[in-house]
Amino acid sequence: MLPQIEAQISDAGIDCDAGRLQLLEKYVKLLVTANEKSNLTAIKDEIEIWDQLVLRSMRFHPVMSSLKEGSKVIDVGTGAGIPGVIAAIVYPSLMITMIDATGKKVRFVTEAIDELGITNARAIQGRAEQIGRERDHREHYDLSVARAVGSLTELAELLLPLVTPHRGQAAALKGADIDDELALAGHASAELGAADPSITAIASPGSSDPDKMVTWTKTRPTPRAYPRRDGVPHKSPLFGPRQVGARG
Ligand code: SAH
Repeated sequence: MLPQIEAQISDAGIDCDAGRLQLLEKYVKLLVTANEKSNLTAIKDEIEIWDQLVLRSMRFHPVMSSLKEGSKVIDVGTGAGIPGVIAAIVYPSLMITMIDATGKKVRFVTEAIDELGITNARAIQGRAEQIGRERDHREHYDLSVARAVGSLTELAELLLPLVTPHRGQAAALKGADIDDELALAGHASAELGAADPSITAIASPGSSDPDKMVTWTKTRPTPRAYPRRDGVPHKSPLFGPRQVGARG
């Protein structure tokens, strides 16, 4: 592993022993190889994968590290396992479920978990709109997370139904410029059972631009009407009465 990567991980206060660093390396190699055969991520270059996918996943550290041992986390729209596989490696005491709508991505994640010998993670093919209605998943998780999946309004509808009322949290990693999206997401947050999200600026690890972490705390159960049918949270985001027609 490049020394600067290891340094960035430890500078961010993330405790990763040699065994876990090796697993991260092995995952990156698996992803580079799999990407040559099938298009799993837009980022193909090994150094870029470390920077944009692996280190960036670790920006969830503030929320992940605040969880108790055995907490259940769901990563919605995990793609090739971002941030879910990284979280499963870095936090072996958390139970990580990853979901994605695309079969080939879920197959890759399942094979990668298997190959790495990770026992605290699973990957399920499905849409968050469906899984969020299933008894085994609805209001079942301590934390739901997503990166690069949708607008904050859409994410509120996909992430909040999955977490337990009264203490569950949802967290999304977004770019730095989220003021407009955030202003539009207030109605959806309240409707889905959460107060307005809190925002934290996060610059490391990873050499790329700063991100903002958007964190909701669920205060009430999500009404049965949500999440709506497949694709509806994206096509008709849950804006307030005065925002209908606006886009988030
Ligand atoms: N989180 C990964 C992948 C982002 S790409 C990363 O940061 O690299 C977005 C992924 O979300 C795609 O793989 C897509 O299949 C998935 N996705 C989008 N909407 C979804 C939904 N409603 N339910 C499940 N997966 C979804």
